[in-house]
Amino acid sequence: MVPESTSSPCAASLLAWYDRHRRDLPWRARPGEVADPYRVWLSEIMLQQTQVQAVIPYFLRFLDRWPTVEALAAADLDAVLAAWAGLGYYARARRLHTCARAVVADFGGSFPDDEAGLRALPGIGAYTAGAIAAIAFDRPAAAVDGNVERVMARAYAIETPLPAAKTAIRERTLAMIPPDRPGDFAQALMDLGATVCTPRNPACGICPWRDGCAGRRAGIAADLPVAAPRKLRPQKHGLVFWVERGDGAVLLRRRPDEGLLGGMLELPSTPWRESPWALKEALPHAPATGGYRLLPGVARHGFTHFLIDLAVASVRLDGPGPAPGPDDQWHRPEAFPGLALPTLTRRAIRHAQTAG
Ligand code: SF4
Repeated sequence: MVPESTSSPCAASLLAWYDRHRRDLPWRARPGEVADPYRVWLSEIMLQQTQVQAVIPYFLRFLDRWPTVEALAAADLDAVLAAWAGLGYYARARRLHTCARAVVADFGGSFPDDEAGLRALPGIGAYTAGAIAAIAFDRPAAAVDGNVERVMARAYAIETPLPAAKTAIRERTLAMIPPDRPGDFAQALMDLGATVCTPRNPACGICPWRDGCAGRRAGIAADLPVAAPRKLRPQKHGLVFWVERGDGAVLLRRRPDEGLLGGMLELPSTPWRESPWALKEALPHAPATGGYRLLPGVARHGFTHFLIDLAVASVRLDGPGPAPGPDDQWHRPEAFPGLALPTLTRRAIRHAQTAG
């Protein structure tokens, strides 16, 4: 990279750098192209809590299968959830689908073109509304996520810990937006945070803001932003039941639509609680009677706010199994890859298949 030089952090030097070093991303309009709001929206929803490299194959598959917001709105929710499996935070996929339907039903398939209109849609919070408004519609909106917070806190040597520093960072960002290129500015900040001003070892030597960066000048850049003390995630425990019929099909159950992993399929489970379950106390939650065997070890998973260990109790039924309840489904394991199974459940399935 050939570095640019400037006396203070400013949009012009950042944009000059962006014009030469921008990342080529599948949802991004190339120079001279008009951004497609559907692509921008789809990518921003996928990028919530997920890294760019992980999102790219999902984005391409979604676009191939549902090339327009109308196509996505017309899709079966289960198909959308199944295609989403592995990206995590399934409520996002449900809201993605609801949002597509709202855009088609209420706006004739055209996304609202400002932050307020976007924010009113399902699954679009302040950051995402700002990002879409800026990138898709060139509105002078701030898209401040963790990356941008880091870059701006360093550039202006903001030592107030997060989240208290958010307001100052947002004001600095808004004040810097160039009226002629808000979308490029938002993407340039994202790229700077992703490729140069990285969390560890910021590459100040090739940064367009290296001369004017207050954090670098003060020698504190790598220590910014100052994070509030991290809370330990509580540990929860559950016990799931691997109930296999004579023909090899396994019982799955659909979770309630609302709440964590809403609408996804899982192995029937006890409630989750703070202490591990003994098999005997878990059995009243079993979906069928039988001689259950507790498998050694647990399947582990981490959600944003807590960690979960799932023990697995396994049984093989001789007959056809219990009559399925309204949320129950029998599936053979060969069909699992095509089902809307959250990562937690996939881990529990792997454990059931390997720990026996
Ligand atoms: S800390 Fe370094 S990489 Fe980050 S904005 Fe300042 S000069 Fe650029």
